[in-house]
Amino acid sequence: MVIEAHARYRDHAEGSVADDIPVLGRADPSLFGLVVTDAAGGSHVVGDADVAFPIQSISKLFVYALALERHGHDRLREVVGVNNTGLPFNSVMVFELNAGHPMNPMVNAGAIATTALLGDGDPGRSWEALSAGLSLFAGRELEVDREVYASEAASNDRNLALGRVLRGYGRLEGPSDEHVDAYTRQCALSVTARDIALMGATLADGGVNPVTGLRVVSEEVARDALSVAAAAGLYERSGEWLFEIGLPAKSGVAGCIVAVAPGKGAVGAFSPPLDAAGNSVRSQLAIGFLSRAMGLNLFASA
Ligand code: GLU
Repeated sequence: MVIEAHARYRDHAEGSVADDIPVLGRADPSLFGLVVTDAAGGSHVVGDADVAFPIQSISKLFVYALALERHGHDRLREVVGVNNTGLPFNSVMVFELNAGHPMNPMVNAGAIATTALLGDGDPGRSWEALSAGLSLFAGRELEVDREVYASEAASNDRNLALGRVLRGYGRLEGPSDEHVDAYTRQCALSVTARDIALMGATLADGGVNPVTGLRVVSEEVARDALSVAAAAGLYERSGEWLFEIGLPAKSGVAGCIVAVAPGKGAVGAFSPPLDAAGNSVRSQLAIGFLSRAMGLNLFASA
Protein backbone atom coordinates (compact mmCIF):
# COMPACT_ATOMS: atom_id res chain seq x y z
CA MET A 1 0.00 0.00 0.00
CA VAL A 2 2.88 2.36 0.81
CA ILE A 3 4.49 1.44 -2.51
CA GLU A 4 1.22 2.18 -4.28
CA ALA A 5 0.83 5.56 -2.53
CA HIS A 6 4.32 6.50 -3.66
CA ALA A 7 3.82 5.29 -7.24
CA ARG A 8 0.50 7.14 -7.59
CA TYR A 9 1.94 10.56 -6.79
CA ARG A 10 5.66 10.51 -7.57
CA ASP A 11 5.06 12.16 -10.97
CA HIS A 12 2.52 14.65 -9.66
CA ALA A 13 4.03 17.99 -10.64
CA GLU A 14 1.95 20.61 -8.78
CA GLY A 15 3.44 23.08 -6.27
CA SER A 16 6.70 24.95 -5.94
CA VAL A 17 9.71 24.66 -3.65
CA ALA A 18 9.87 27.14 -0.72
CA ASP A 19 11.68 30.34 -1.53
CA ASP A 20 11.32 32.37 1.68
CA ILE A 21 14.36 30.65 3.21
CA PRO A 22 17.10 31.04 0.54
CA VAL A 23 18.85 27.69 1.04
CA LEU A 24 15.58 25.71 0.78
CA GLY A 25 15.00 27.08 -2.72
CA ARG A 26 17.72 24.77 -4.02
CA ALA A 27 15.90 21.56 -3.01
CA ASP A 28 15.32 19.00 -5.77
CA PRO A 29 11.56 19.08 -6.55
CA SER A 30 11.54 15.44 -7.66
CA LEU A 31 12.47 14.11 -4.17
CA PHE A 32 9.72 12.00 -2.61
CA GLY A 33 10.11 9.79 0.45
CA LEU A 34 7.34 7.94 2.24
CA VAL A 35 7.63 5.99 5.50
CA VAL A 36 4.95 4.33 7.60
CA THR A 37 6.10 3.35 11.10
CA ASP A 38 3.71 1.41 13.29
CA ALA A 39 3.36 1.73 17.06
CA ALA A 40 5.43 -1.46 17.48
CA GLY A 41 8.36 0.09 15.58
CA GLY A 42 8.03 -1.72 12.24
CA SER A 43 8.49 0.42 9.12
CA HIS A 44 7.54 0.41 5.44
CA VAL A 45 9.89 2.64 3.50
CA VAL A 46 9.68 3.86 -0.11
CA GLY A 47 11.66 6.41 -2.15
CA ASP A 48 13.84 9.18 -0.71
CA ALA A 49 13.34 8.22 2.93
CA ASP A 50 16.93 8.87 3.96
CA VAL A 51 17.45 12.26 2.34
CA ALA A 52 18.15 14.89 5.01
CA PHE A 53 16.15 18.12 5.22
CA PRO A 54 15.58 20.70 7.99
CA ILE A 55 12.75 19.80 10.33
CA GLN A 56 11.38 23.37 10.28
CA SER A 57 7.85 23.73 11.65
CA ILE A 58 7.47 20.04 12.41
CA SER A 59 9.72 20.74 15.38
CA LYS A 60 6.88 22.82 16.86
CA LEU A 61 4.79 19.74 17.58
CA PHE A 62 7.56 17.91 19.42
CA VAL A 63 8.89 20.92 21.33
CA TYR A 64 5.29 21.57 22.38
CA ALA A 65 5.08 18.01 23.72
CA LEU A 66 8.31 18.56 25.70
CA ALA A 67 6.98 21.84 27.12
CA LEU A 68 3.69 20.13 28.06
CA GLU A 69 5.67 17.43 29.83
CA ARG A 70 7.56 20.09 31.80
CA HIS A 71 4.78 22.56 32.59
CA GLY A 72 1.52 20.64 32.23
CA HIS A 73 -1.76 20.93 30.34
CA ASP A 74 -3.20 23.97 32.19
CA ARG A 75 -0.10 26.17 32.03
CA LEU A 76 0.41 25.57 28.31
CA ARG A 77 -3.25 26.15 27.60
CA GLU A 78 -3.08 29.48 29.42
CA VAL A 79 0.29 30.73 28.18
CA VAL A 80 0.38 29.47 24.58
CA GLY A 81 -3.25 28.56 23.76
CA VAL A 82 -4.85 25.88 21.60
CA ASN A 83 -7.03 27.69 19.08
CA ASN A 84 -6.45 27.91 15.36
CA THR A 85 -5.69 31.41 14.13
CA GLY A 86 -6.74 31.04 10.48
CA LEU A 87 -3.69 33.19 9.73
CA PRO A 88 -0.36 32.34 8.05
CA PHE A 89 2.27 30.73 10.30
CA ASN A 90 4.42 33.86 10.56
CA SER A 91 1.58 36.32 11.10
CA VAL A 92 2.12 39.30 13.37
CA MET A 93 -1.61 40.02 13.34
CA VAL A 94 -2.12 36.97 15.56
CA PHE A 95 -1.38 39.20 18.55
CA GLU A 96 -4.33 41.46 17.78
CA LEU A 97 -6.80 38.58 17.93
CA ASN A 98 -6.52 37.99 21.65
CA ALA A 99 -4.81 40.83 23.55
CA GLY A 100 -1.26 39.86 22.69
CA HIS A 101 -1.79 36.14 23.19
CA PRO A 102 0.14 33.92 20.73
CA MET A 103 -2.95 31.66 20.20
CA ASN A 104 -1.34 28.25 19.64
CA PRO A 105 2.08 26.53 19.55
CA MET A 106 1.95 25.72 15.81
CA VAL A 107 2.28 29.33 14.62
CA ASN A 108 5.65 31.06 15.00
CA ALA A 109 4.50 33.39 17.79
CA GLY A 110 3.29 30.48 19.93
CA ALA A 111 6.24 28.30 18.97
CA ILE A 112 8.74 30.94 20.13
CA ALA A 113 6.81 31.27 23.42
CA THR A 114 6.84 27.47 23.78
CA THR A 115 10.58 27.19 23.16
CA ALA A 116 11.21 29.92 25.76
CA LEU A 117 8.96 28.20 28.29
CA LEU A 118 10.76 24.88 27.88
CA GLY A 119 13.94 26.37 29.39
CA ASP A 120 12.08 28.45 32.02
CA GLY A 121 13.14 31.65 30.24
CA ASP A 122 16.79 30.61 29.75
CA PRO A 123 17.47 30.13 26.00
CA GLY A 124 20.56 27.94 26.61
CA ARG A 125 18.48 25.60 28.75
CA SER A 126 15.70 25.58 26.13
CA TRP A 127 18.18 24.54 23.48
CA GLU A 128 19.63 21.74 25.60
CA ALA A 129 16.18 20.40 26.50
CA LEU A 130 14.81 20.56 22.99
CA SER A 131 17.82 19.11 21.16
CA ALA A 132 18.00 16.22 23.67
CA GLY A 133 14.23 15.72 23.65
CA LEU A 134 13.80 15.77 19.86
CA SER A 135 16.69 13.30 19.61
CA LEU A 136 14.83 10.96 21.97
CA PHE A 137 11.75 11.19 19.75
CA ALA A 138 13.91 10.34 16.72
CA GLY A 139 15.90 7.61 18.47
CA ARG A 140 19.21 9.12 17.37
CA GLU A 141 21.17 12.30 18.00
CA LEU A 142 19.90 15.05 15.70
CA GLU A 143 22.27 17.73 14.47
CA VAL A 144 21.85 21.26 13.21
CA ASP A 145 22.25 21.91 9.48
CA ARG A 146 24.61 24.86 9.82
CA GLU A 147 23.97 26.25 6.35
CA VAL A 148 20.21 26.31 6.95
CA TYR A 149 20.70 27.89 10.37
CA ALA A 150 22.99 30.60 8.97
CA SER A 151 20.61 31.30 6.11
CA GLU A 152 17.62 31.71 8.42
CA ALA A 153 19.52 33.61 11.09
CA ALA A 154 20.58 36.14 8.45
CA SER A 155 16.98 36.78 7.32
CA ASN A 156 15.12 36.49 10.60
CA ASP A 157 13.60 39.95 11.09
CA ARG A 158 10.06 38.71 11.23
CA ASN A 159 10.66 36.11 13.95
CA LEU A 160 12.80 38.58 15.91
CA ALA A 161 9.88 41.00 15.73
CA LEU A 162 7.48 38.31 16.97
CA GLY A 163 9.79 37.66 19.93
CA ARG A 164 9.90 41.37 20.76
CA VAL A 165 6.13 41.73 20.56
CA LEU A 166 5.70 38.71 22.85
CA ARG A 167 8.03 40.34 25.34
CA GLY A 168 6.27 43.67 24.94
CA TYR A 169 3.01 42.01 25.96
CA GLY A 170 4.72 40.41 28.96
CA ARG A 171 4.36 36.94 27.46
CA LEU A 172 8.02 36.00 27.22
CA GLU A 173 10.56 35.81 30.03
CA GLY A 174 14.25 36.41 29.33
CA PRO A 175 16.05 37.78 26.26
CA SER A 176 13.71 37.62 23.26
CA ASP A 177 16.40 37.67 20.53
CA GLU A 178 18.15 34.68 22.10
CA HIS A 179 14.89 32.79 22.43
CA VAL A 180 14.30 33.38 18.73
CA ASP A 181 17.83 32.15 18.05
CA ALA A 182 17.08 28.88 19.92
CA TYR A 183 13.86 28.55 17.89
CA THR A 184 15.78 29.16 14.65
CA ARG A 185 18.30 26.45 15.52
CA GLN A 186 15.42 24.13 16.40
CA CYS A 187 14.00 24.62 12.88
CA ALA A 188 17.42 23.81 11.34
CA LEU A 189 17.74 20.38 12.97
CA SER A 190 18.41 17.90 10.19
CA VAL A 191 16.06 14.90 9.83
CA THR A 192 14.81 12.37 7.26
CA ALA A 193 11.33 11.05 6.47
CA ARG A 194 12.36 7.92 8.39
CA ASP A 195 13.13 10.03 11.49
CA ILE A 196 9.89 11.95 11.22
CA ALA A 197 7.82 8.77 10.94
CA LEU A 198 9.44 7.40 14.11
CA MET A 199 8.94 10.70 15.94
CA GLY A 200 5.25 10.53 14.99
CA ALA A 201 5.05 6.85 15.94
CA THR A 202 6.36 7.80 19.39
CA LEU A 203 3.32 10.04 19.86
CA ALA A 204 1.10 7.29 18.41
CA ASP A 205 2.58 4.91 20.97
CA GLY A 206 1.56 7.16 23.88
CA GLY A 207 4.98 8.82 24.24
CA VAL A 208 7.21 5.72 24.12
CA ASN A 209 9.66 5.46 21.23
CA PRO A 210 8.72 2.03 19.80
CA VAL A 211 12.25 1.33 18.54
CA THR A 212 14.36 2.39 21.55
CA GLY A 213 11.66 1.53 24.09
CA LEU A 214 12.36 4.80 25.94
CA ARG A 215 9.52 6.93 27.25
CA VAL A 216 9.90 10.50 25.95
CA VAL A 217 6.64 12.06 27.21
CA SER A 218 3.60 10.81 29.13
CA GLU A 219 0.51 9.35 27.49
CA GLU A 220 -1.51 12.46 28.44
CA VAL A 221 1.09 14.72 26.84
CA ALA A 222 1.06 12.69 23.60
CA ARG A 223 -2.74 13.00 23.54
CA ASP A 224 -2.70 16.75 24.19
CA ALA A 225 0.00 17.44 21.59
CA LEU A 226 -1.95 15.49 18.96
CA SER A 227 -5.14 17.42 19.78
CA VAL A 228 -3.40 20.70 19.01
CA ALA A 229 -1.89 19.23 15.83
CA ALA A 230 -5.41 18.30 14.71
CA ALA A 231 -6.60 21.87 15.32
CA ALA A 232 -3.65 23.77 13.85
CA GLY A 233 -1.01 21.49 12.30
CA LEU A 234 -1.43 22.40 8.63
CA TYR A 235 -1.23 26.15 8.82
CA GLU A 236 -4.43 27.89 7.72
CA ARG A 237 -5.56 24.72 5.90
CA SER A 238 -5.90 22.73 9.13
CA GLY A 239 -9.70 22.54 8.93
CA GLU A 240 -9.65 21.29 5.35
CA TRP A 241 -6.99 18.72 6.22
CA LEU A 242 -8.98 17.34 9.16
CA PHE A 243 -12.14 17.26 7.06
CA GLU A 244 -10.48 15.35 4.21
CA ILE A 245 -7.95 13.16 6.04
CA GLY A 246 -9.14 12.95 9.65
CA LEU A 247 -5.70 12.66 11.32
CA PRO A 248 -3.61 15.01 13.48
CA ALA A 249 -0.60 16.13 11.48
CA LYS A 250 2.13 18.75 11.30
CA SER A 251 3.79 20.11 8.20
CA GLY A 252 7.05 21.97 7.63
CA VAL A 253 8.17 24.30 4.89
CA ALA A 254 10.98 21.95 3.75
CA GLY A 255 8.18 19.75 2.35
CA CYS A 256 7.55 17.21 5.07
CA ILE A 257 4.32 16.17 6.79
CA VAL A 258 3.96 13.82 9.74
CA ALA A 259 0.48 12.39 10.30
CA VAL A 260 -0.33 10.31 13.38
CA ALA A 261 -2.94 7.61 13.87
CA PRO A 262 -3.11 7.32 17.69
CA GLY A 263 -2.41 3.80 18.91
CA LYS A 264 -1.54 2.66 15.39
CA GLY A 265 1.45 4.51 13.97
CA ALA A 266 2.53 7.45 11.84
CA VAL A 267 3.33 8.45 8.29
CA GLY A 268 6.33 10.63 7.47
CA ALA A 269 6.20 12.03 3.94
CA PHE A 270 8.78 14.29 2.33
CA SER A 271 8.59 16.08 -1.02
CA PRO A 272 9.71 19.71 -1.42
CA PRO A 273 7.04 21.26 -3.76
CA LEU A 274 4.46 23.14 -1.65
CA ASP A 275 0.97 24.54 -2.14
CA ALA A 276 0.13 28.19 -1.43
CA ALA A 277 -0.24 27.55 2.33
CA GLY A 278 3.21 25.92 2.55
CA ASN A 279 2.11 22.26 2.70
CA SER A 280 3.88 19.61 0.61
CA VAL A 281 1.60 18.65 -2.28
CA ARG A 282 2.74 15.04 -2.79
CA SER A 283 2.86 14.43 0.96
CA GLN A 284 -0.76 15.53 1.37
CA LEU A 285 -1.90 13.33 -1.52
CA ALA A 286 0.02 10.27 -0.35
CA ILE A 287 -1.14 10.56 3.27
CA GLY A 288 -4.72 11.13 2.10
CA PHE A 289 -4.54 7.96 0.02
CA LEU A 290 -3.08 5.95 2.93
CA SER A 291 -5.64 7.31 5.40
CA ARG A 292 -8.50 6.17 3.13
CA ALA A 293 -6.91 2.86 2.10
CA MET A 294 -6.00 1.89 5.67
CA GLY A 295 -9.18 3.27 7.26
CA LEU A 296 -7.30 5.68 9.53
CA ASN A 297 -9.76 8.62 9.65
CA LEU A 298 -10.39 9.19 13.38
CA PHE A 299 -13.95 10.31 12.79
CA ALA A 300 -15.06 7.27 10.78
CA SER A 301 -17.07 4.71 12.74
CA ALA A 302 -16.19 1.90 10.35
N1 GLU B 1 11.85 28.37 10.29
C1 GLU B 1 10.63 28.78 9.64
C2 GLU B 1 10.16 30.07 10.27
O1 GLU B 1 10.19 30.19 11.45
C3 GLU B 1 9.58 27.70 9.80
C4 GLU B 1 8.74 27.66 8.61
C5 GLU B 1 7.80 26.48 8.54
O2 GLU B 1 8.21 25.32 8.45
O3 GLU B 1 6.59 26.77 8.54
O4 GLU B 1 9.76 30.99 9.58
